Amino acid sequence: MKIANRMENLSPSVTMAITALARELKAQGKDILSFSAGEPDFDTPVIVKEAAIKAINEGQTKYTAVEGIIATKQAIINKLKKDHGLEYKLDGIVISNGAKHSLFNLFQVLVEDGDEVIIPAPYWVTYPEQVKYSGGVPVFIETNDSTEFKITPEQLKAAITPKTKILLLNTPSNPTGSVYSKEELLALGEVLKGTDIIVFSDEMYEKIMYNGKKFTAAAQVSEDMYKRTVTINGLSKAVAMTGWRFGYIATCDAALAKALTKLQGQVTSNINTMTQYAAIPALEGDADETIEMMRVEFEKRKNYAVSAFNDIKGLSSIDPDGAFYLFINIQEVTNDSMKFCAELLEQKGVALVPGLAFGTEGYVRFSFATDLATIQEGIKRIKEFVENK
Ligand code: PLP
Repeated sequence: MKIANRMENLSPSVTMAITALARELKAQGKDILSFSAGEPDFDTPVIVKEAAIKAINEGQTKYTAVEGIIATKQAIINKLKKDHGLEYKLDGIVISNGAKHSLFNLFQVLVEDGDEVIIPAPYWVTYPEQVKYSGGVPVFIETNDSTEFKITPEQLKAAITPKTKILLLNTPSNPTGSVYSKEELLALGEVLKGTDIIVFSDEMYEKIMYNGKKFTAAAQVSEDMYKRTVTINGLSKAVAMTGWRFGYIATCDAALAKALTKLQGQVTSNINTMTQYAAIPALEGDADETIEMMRVEFEKRKNYAVSAFNDIKGLSSIDPDGAFYLFINIQEVTNDSMKFCAELLEQKGVALVPGLAFGTEGYVRFSFATDLATIQEGIKRIKEFVENK
């Protein structure tokens, strides 16, 4: 069959491909340690599961409003108010099948052919692909570990053209774990003042913060930023709900929410009904103890991994303030992250994701969303691999 031309520009997800390859090698009986996954190794909190079971038993098994039921949208509104002091209305919330779906809808609804979307690199693999699929042009701002992979106001200013439509921020970041402070967000916001540029703020990892740092939402730093920011969030990472598929956007632009709902109404309709009920306790803080338990465990692993990697000659890692990844500098060993990862998998059975997949060569991504014993063994093997090079 002839596949449509628009598929030609779309690349498959490298992270998912590597995770699948590691799984396949493991199934063949090979001794594989995978640090490529982008999902918590913890189970979904019991209270969330119980809410879904209750919903099923009570017959909540039908279609709902496309953009989500009022109770869940209200729980999102309450969360944004409680956590960040932000005010949203019911007509500014749209729930989709994961934040990935929220982003897809956003790009489809907002981007015209040739519109530019500024994406700081390294970036989550999905962003440029979705931008291209919508007819937009990704414009990358390169960063490295010397600025903790954060863009500066000067870099942003230089990247803006008359065609710039959107600035995409991801804080805490996948793949680097970097977090923008309130001051840094304000400074970026200053550059945007007087423009029509929309900010997408992907805050998927906001609950997974370290080193005593506090998360700041992009929309909360100023009135100007509040108006131009579309917040994208979900429950996959913080509440270990990757398989439930729950993502949402919050905006003060009701016309945008309406357009997103129109598109979703012709593509998927509402997300599954039980997930909407399960999300309510997660959003309302009933699972906060479990969320904190996971965060503490992630931080222990992070502390171990950062110091262990920095002890390996030729490798170095920043100490990230959020998410569950290290973006490790391998430049003293090689600049070829694809080759590094292929050889490491072949020789030591350790799966990492090459930095190139995230748009930045000379680094590899290590996910510590796996138990400490596996992390210790994995880093031991990586050390042996690097020392033998
Ligand atoms: N945003 C970021 C930065 C991510 O890393 C991910 C998942 O890897 C997502 C969004 C998508 O999350 P989901 O579609 O599971 O809600």
